[in-house]
Amino acid sequence: MHRARYYFRILRTRAGCARRWTLVFFGAMIVLTSGCQQPTKPAPFPTRPGPQRPPTSPISGRTVVIDAGHGGKDTGAPGVGPLVEKYVNLAIAMRVADLLQQRGVNVVRTRRDDTFIPLDDRASTADRYAADLLVSIHADSAPNPRATGATIYIAGGATNQSKTAATRINASLSSAGIKTRGVRSAKFRVLVGHARPSVLVECGYLTNTVEASRLASGGYQARVAQAIATGVLDHLRALR
Ligand SMILES: [Zn+2]
Repeated sequence: MHRARYYFRILRTRAGCARRWTLVFFGAMIVLTSGCQQPTKPAPFPTRPGPQRPPTSPISGRTVVIDAGHGGKDTGAPGVGPLVEKYVNLAIAMRVADLLQQRGVNVVRTRRDDTFIPLDDRASTADRYAADLLVSIHADSAPNPRATGATIYIAGGATNQSKTAATRINASLSSAGIKTRGVRSAKFRVLVGHARPSVLVECGYLTNTVEASRLASGGYQARVAQAIATGVLDHLRALR
């Protein structure tokens, strides 16, 4: 047990009616819950970043809106267990935003916390800041519990800039070993309610047991975020 590190802590949810025991042991985390099942924010998780490419020149003069889907009273898709979509979206979106900012991108976040933002306000943010790209981040659900994989959506009749951004994000996710269902089109309001290039990334299915447990972990969230950010940076560099 030499050099073993562990700690034990008890957290109360906001409602105070459930307790969560978090045991961190040799870098692995076990979360046990009791009491009523409130929507649970993913616990921090030891980050193990995957292989990263060498740093490249910074991006300047480009603006990207990062939209963490749902929030507040709009919890998003229910998944297996107490985890709900709005928290997964926020965790991944904040990481993507930080990574882009570190590379010099001007980042606008539609939300930074568990706040409800109307869809039209999210969309209009892209116009207001003349964004080079809006990236809306979500997690999926389906009646079929076997459904898995990330999906990148663009509006029907999307511009070439939206298409190339989606293609690069899809390629980057695949390169990171994350299963994708490819680029598809949909009439999501956050894609069609403004005139700027935009994509919506469904990061995986919360209704699949395996994918939900991955999406709940900080390590996997970081991996997805890194892949999305890499795809966005590839796209922005190609705009030059
Ligand atoms: Zn969603």
